[in-house]
Amino acid sequence: MRYSMLAVAISTSLFLTACSEPPTNHTQSTSQTAAAQQINPLLSASPLQYQAPDFSQIKDAHFLPAFEQGMAEHLQDIQAIIDSPEPASFDNTIVAMEKAGPLLTRVSRIFFNLVGTDSNEARRALQSELAPRLAAHSDNINLNAALFARVESVYQQRDALKLDAESARLLEVYYQRFIKAGAKLTEQQKLAVRALNEEHSKLTTQFSQNLLKLSKAIAVVVEDKQDLDGLSDSQLKAAATAAEAAGHSGKYLLSITNTTRQPILASLNNRALRQQVWEASAYRGTDGELDNRPLVARLTQIRAQKAALLGYNNWAEYQLENTMAETPANVFNMLNSMVPAVVANTQAEQADIQAMIQREGGNFEVQPWDWAYYAEKVRQEKYDLDENEVRQYFEFNRVLHDGLFYTMNRLYGIRFEPRPDLPVYHPDVQAFEVFDHGGKSLAIFYADYFAREGKRGGAWMSSFVGQSNLLGQTPVVVNVMNIPKAPEGEPTLVSFDHVTTMFHELGHGIHGMFSKVKYPSLAGTAVSRDFVEFPSTFEEDWAALPEVLANYARHYQTDQPIPAELLEKVMKAKNFNMGFDTLEYMASALLDMEWHSLAADAPLQDVQAFEAKALAKHGVNLPAVPPRYKSTYFSHSIGGGYSAGYYAYMWSEILAADAFAYLRERGGLTRENGELYRKHILEVGNSRPPMESYIQFRGQEPTTDALLIRRGLKAQID
Ligand SMILES: [Zn+2]
Repeated sequence: MRYSMLAVAISTSLFLTACSEPPTNHTQSTSQTAAAQQINPLLSASPLQYQAPDFSQIKDAHFLPAFEQGMAEHLQDIQAIIDSPEPASFDNTIVAMEKAGPLLTRVSRIFFNLVGTDSNEARRALQSELAPRLAAHSDNINLNAALFARVESVYQQRDALKLDAESARLLEVYYQRFIKAGAKLTEQQKLAVRALNEEHSKLTTQFSQNLLKLSKAIAVVVEDKQDLDGLSDSQLKAAATAAEAAGHSGKYLLSITNTTRQPILASLNNRALRQQVWEASAYRGTDGELDNRPLVARLTQIRAQKAALLGYNNWAEYQLENTMAETPANVFNMLNSMVPAVVANTQAEQADIQAMIQREGGNFEVQPWDWAYYAEKVRQEKYDLDENEVRQYFEFNRVLHDGLFYTMNRLYGIRFEPRPDLPVYHPDVQAFEVFDHGGKSLAIFYADYFAREGKRGGAWMSSFVGQSNLLGQTPVVVNVMNIPKAPEGEPTLVSFDHVTTMFHELGHGIHGMFSKVKYPSLAGTAVSRDFVEFPSTFEEDWAALPEVLANYARHYQTDQPIPAELLEKVMKAKNFNMGFDTLEYMASALLDMEWHSLAADAPLQDVQAFEAKALAKHGVNLPAVPPRYKSTYFSHSIGGGYSAGYYAYMWSEILAADAFAYLRERGGLTRENGELYRKHILEVGNSRPPMESYIQFRGQEPTTDALLIRRGLKAQID
C-alpha cells in the first residue's frame, strides 16, 4: 500500500481523515504560536542532508503555526500568479504552481507521515482540526476561476507552445486536475462541491480515527493460559507483554490486525476462542460509539453526489478516468473473468479442509474462524511444513541486508549505508543513505519496520522529500511495516510473508528514489493507482529467487543455509491457499467497485445488506471466505485513498508478473535487466502515460498469463 502525501497540498485531500475528538482549543494554540514561531524548525527548509527533517527539533506545537503560515504563503504564491500582468504562459502559470507553497508541502509531508507512524492524542486532535481546513484550502485553489482562466489559456495554446514531452504531460495533468475538481462548474455548483469536500474530509478522518481506537477496544483479553493452547512460547510472551502494556497484568492480550482474517487463528486450538477473535475482527465498527456504518453509507453517497455534479454517472467512473483501466466496465470484466477459476480453486481447498475436520472427529461445517486453523493442518500434511522452523531462517536483519539490500545491489548497483547520525522520529527507525553504482549519493531511506501503538496497521511507503530537478530536491523516503518485534534481547524472526512485504515496500521505495524527472507533481510514485503497485509487486518475486534466497535464508543461530528440502517445501507451499487469498481479495475489490457504482440519487444504504447483495451478485459470497476487508474497516476504499481503486493491486500484479517473467527469460538477476527496468519504468514517474512506459520496457502490452501462473491458477483456466 502507499499513501500519497503530495496530494495533500493540491488535491481534494482525499487522504486526510479527521476526527471525533473535540477540536484543539484555539486560544491556547494562538498563545503557543508566538513562542513556537521563534524557533519553529518547520518554517525553513531543514539544513540536514537533502532536507531530511530534523526530528530532534520538531515539537507537536510547531505544526499548527506552520500549517497556518504554509496555507497563507501558498495562497500568496497563487495570488501572485493570478495577478501577473504578463499574459498566461507555461512558465508563469504551470511551473509557478509547481513552485508554489513549499512550506505547506514540507509540513504536510512531515505531519501526515507522523500521524500514520507515530500518532498521539495531540496529533490526532490536530489532524481532525486540519482536515476540513486543508480541504477548503485545496478548493480555494482548485475552484479559483481567475486561476483556472490562466490554466485554460495556456492549455488552449498547447500546440503552439512547443513544449518538451514532460512539460506537455504536466500541462495535461494540471488541466485535468482542475476540471475534475470542478473548475468548469457554476458558482452554485462549486459551493456544493466545497460542502461535499469538507464533509468528506471530516468523515474520512473520523472513519480512520475510529479504526485506530477500535484496534485497541476490540483486542481480546484472555485470562487463562490454557485457552491459548497451540501458541508458541514467543507468541505467548508477546501476548503477555501486550496485556501488561494495556494494563491487564498477568493476563494475555490478542491484538486484532486490520483484516478480517487473523494470523493467530492458525494456531489457536480452542475453537470458541477462535470464534471470539474472528467475531471481534469481522464485526468491528458495526455498533456502539465507534459504529462506522453511518460513515460508510454517507461517504459513498457523498462521492456519488460529487461525481454527479461533475458530470459522471458514479464515483467509479470519475476515479477511473486517466487510469490504465479507464472505465468501471474494464475493471468488472477483469475481475469477473477470474471468478470461476478462483472459486473453483477455493472450493477444492474447502473440500480438503472439510475432510481434515472430519478426520479429526469434528462434526461441523467449516466456518471462517476455522479456515486458517485447518488449512495449516492440511498444509502440514501436504507439505509437512513447520512455519516456526522456517522462520528460523528468516532473521530480520539478515533479510534486510542480505536479502533486500543485496538484491538492490545486484539489480541496480546501489548500496545502503547506515546513517545513525541522522535524527529519527522513533528509536525503532533506522536511517540509511543510498549510493548509486559509481558512488553518487542518491537518497535518504528510513526503515520503520516494527509494530507499535500509535502506528496505523498495514505497510506502506511514503516520502518526506520528493524528487524534482526543478526544485533541486533529492528523495527522502520511508518504508513502514508492522512486524511484531521480538522481546528485548531476542532476534526477530519473520515469516516469508513479511519478507515478501519488505521487498514490496522497497519496490515502492526505489520508485521514489530512482525518480529522475523535472516536475515534482510527476515524480516517482505519483502515477495512477493501477500502475503504482506494479514496481512494488514486481520486486516481491526476487525474494523467492533461489539465488537470492541462498544469500539471506540462513539459520539465525548456526548460519547454515536453509536446507534444500525445506526450501523446496516453502516454494511448493507458496501457492497453497491461493484460492482463498485471491477470492477474499477479489470480494473486497468487487465490494469497493459496487459501493462506488451507486448513483447520486440512491438512498443511504444498509451497509450489511448492501455488502451481502454485492457479493452474491458476483458469485463471491462463499460463507467460509468473507472479504479480506468488510466495509466498516475497509480503509483503502471507504477511507478514500483507494476508493474504486482496490482492484488496482491485481491490475498492477498483471504488469508485475509479466515484467518479472520477461526478465527471468533475459537472465534474471543481472545489472543489465535492472538498468532496463529502472530506465523505462522507475526513473520516468508519471512523465508519460504508463502503458507507453511499459511498452518501452517490454516491447509489447502485458497479458494475464504470467499472473495466473504466479498464483498457481493457470492450470485451472486452460
Ligand atoms: Zn504497495
